[in-house]
Amino acid sequence: MRMSRRPKRPTRGSSTRRTPSSTGTDARASATRDDSPCLCGLPASYGECCGRFHSGTAAAPTAERLMRSRYSAFAVNNEPYLLSSWHPATRPSRVGLDPAMRWAGLEILASTEGSAFHTTGTVTFRARYTRRGEEGALHERSRFERYEGAWVYVEGSLVE
Ligand SMILES: [Zn+2]
Repeated sequence: MRMSRRPKRPTRGSSTRRTPSSTGTDARASATRDDSPCLCGLPASYGECCGRFHSGTAAAPTAERLMRSRYSAFAVNNEPYLLSSWHPATRPSRVGLDPAMRWAGLEILASTEGSAFHTTGTVTFRARYTRRGEEGALHERSRFERYEGAWVYVEGSLVE
């Protein structure tokens, strides 16, 4: 997911509305414990699923797992992980997370390559959200590559 197309007003300053100590540990992030169900939709606890990737103790083995871990990073406002899992060639200086977004579910619709035997891959997904009481969905095909051995997000295009 890229998000860069959406905000109409400058996102600079949005982080200053939080207290300095809230970085990465706001209400939603702290509500995600290791034994909570993982937000990415796989039947596993956060600690056994995307939490390992977010903490850096494991690397996503496939493009789809990286996609799922980035979705759950969006859901808990983990901007450092979103940036570190972004290809340096396309990575923005900051993600500009929208505090009004409430990610409500991820559906993987299709994927190509992206396994342990590949160096590129795509994942097509639908991510549902609510924003200020309105429901919506992001339908996107994301492209992934291996960078220094690890899967990273390159770019995404909207699917009609
Ligand atoms: Zn997960």
